[in-house]
Amino acid sequence: MPLSEQNRTSVDVFKRERYHAPEQWYDRDGEPFSPQTNYAVGGNTKIYAAALMRMRDRDFEAVQYQAALSPEWPIKYSDLEPHYSEAEQLYQVHGNMSADPTEPEHSQGYPHGPVEYGEVMAGPVAAIAAKGFHPTALPLSLTGQDDDPTGDAEIFGIEAALQFENVTLKPRPEPWRSIPIPLAKRLKP
Ligand SMILES: Cc1cc2nc3c(=O)[nH]c(=O)nc-3n(C[C@H](O)[C@H](O)[C@H](O)COP(=O)(O)OP(=O)(O)OC[C@H]3O[C@@H](n4cnc5c(N)ncnc54)[C@H](O)[C@@H]3O)c2cc1C
Repeated sequence: MPLSEQNRTSVDVFKRERYHAPEQWYDRDGEPFSPQTNYAVGGNTKIYAAALMRMRDRDFEAVQYQAALSPEWPIKYSDLEPHYSEAEQLYQVHGNMSADPTEPEHSQGYPHGPVEYGEVMAGPVAAIAAKGFHPTALPLSLTGQDDDPTGDAEIFGIEAALQFENVTLKPRPEPWRSIPIPLAKRLKP
């Protein structure tokens, strides 16, 4: 996917739906919608914001929301922790573990320190901190390359895998067809 300004601007990504697939999916009530999903090598990480936050311990517990109960997970944060650490190394995450009191235990630190706030953010961050809150920089996956700054599954996953002799990336088969959704699922009950 070529790097362009429209890959980042919220008006293109969200309002003009630049990265919504040109197909219709159907919600559980049978209402059609255009999915915000991207078919490319690297999947949706080619258009994501590269903010790689860990879930918190309590996200795995039962949480009663106003609308419904989010049930307890069969696994806990501690089951995923080693994988978060491995993924953060792979994705070259820049972050800060100490500023946010809800940050869960890390067995390994982020490979890089946080991205410093730009001028626009420095004022609001200081004002929020002065109120006793804990603003912190989002953990970001960054490549260090000017021409492709955010880390994604192509750069850190596919390209790394292609270094092995027994790994090949095959072009997509033609004709490319999405899996048809049975008509019954498209109809309202
Ligand atoms: C605008 C946007 C911003 C986001 N920002 C963040 C963020 O900052 N932080 C974060 O953690 N997450 C973010 N996400 C979510 C994140 O991108 C996804 O959760 C993640 O990419 C999912 O990875 P996946 O491998 O499960 O699926 P995908 O990334 O969707 O990959 C699926 C792959 O399968 C391929 N595929 C699909 N159908 C077929 C088929 N029939 N045959 C062969 N291949 C097929 C697709 O082309 C794609 O490459 C964002 C998502 C979007 C859309």
